[in-house]
Amino acid sequence: MASLTLSQVRKSYGNLEVIKGVDLDIQDGEFIVFVGPSGCGKSTLLRIIAGLEDITSGDLKIDDRLVNDVRPSDRGVAMVFQTYALYPHMSVRKNMAFGLMQAKKPRDEIDRRVNAAAKTLQIEAYLDRTPKALSGGQRQRVAIGRAIVREPDVFLFDEPLSNLDAALRVQTRLEIAKLHERLATTMIYVTHDQVEAMTLADRIVVLREGLIEQVGTPKELYDSPANEFVAGFIGSPKMNFFNALGDGEKLTLEAGGTLPSDQEGSVRVGIRPEDLIVVKTKPLLKATVDAIEYLGEATYLHLKTANDENLILKSNLDESYQAGAELKVGLTKAAKVHVFK
Ligand code: ADP
Repeated sequence: MASLTLSQVRKSYGNLEVIKGVDLDIQDGEFIVFVGPSGCGKSTLLRIIAGLEDITSGDLKIDDRLVNDVRPSDRGVAMVFQTYALYPHMSVRKNMAFGLMQAKKPRDEIDRRVNAAAKTLQIEAYLDRTPKALSGGQRQRVAIGRAIVREPDVFLFDEPLSNLDAALRVQTRLEIAKLHERLATTMIYVTHDQVEAMTLADRIVVLREGLIEQVGTPKELYDSPANEFVAGFIGSPKMNFFNALGDGEKLTLEAGGTLPSDQEGSVRVGIRPEDLIVVKTKPLLKATVDAIEYLGEATYLHLKTANDENLILKSNLDESYQAGAELKVGLTKAAKVHVFK
């Protein structure tokens, strides 16, 4: 197990700076998820921690040891890749044992570790098959097994579920969460999927264009996003945003309606889809139904305001709506209104 400290970490490829000064403390045993849109630098940051990329400037410490120039194999980290990266001609057992054989571990210790990992991941029945004869989900388990046998201080996962179908993604996600519970090893996990981030992380690190936008627990990020970017990234369907003007006592939405607030000037108001309801009287605003998505447990109403802003209302009521209809929209009792400058 290990803690990590990143201090002003920067990375450039030629003239292109892709990590622009990242400061981050990761506690021993934490499950940290790096999340952000494609190209924001998540994988680069993970590969820097793994030692697969050099740091252009700044410091990386694992348990107080400066590891900037330490080889990947000497950092006590093990990485699981999106593409599994298994040796196709080797059996599952050999794939898992390979790193330990190279490290010249005793035969009986290798057997013990491989068998224990296979048991944990329920892949004992496949130990003598080659990866070719496995499903995507089974291959990913072997890749995770190969990391487990190394008994690393830190596990690094680079979008490990991306190649799995939806059902298997949910199942494997749960298995990774249980694995963390059982091993209590520090884990750093990269994904562009905010649901994976929310469900797995002790703390989420939201990245954008090589910089950290916010670090916090899933609940902190959901309830108190630091800015519009984080607010829009965490939560599905996405938070609604409205242009508004504050006069120090209230906010007047361009779309109509007012909300109490001491903000002044031009702001953006954020309201989550589940915080909006269809009302009969005293609406916050009026909007026209653009499209309806029926999901069974909820209905997403895609609406357009008079000033042409789009919004989504998540309704749990068993009512039918018609495209083109004008609805009165209000706030639920528990609604939280976010205001961003
Ligand atoms: P993410 O994982 O968030 O999708 P990456 O860390 O893979 O993003 O990439 C961040 C940025 O760095 C991107 O703009 C990408 O094009 C660039 N990049 C990544 N690797 C290289 C490389 N080897 N050479 C040049 N640019 C790179």
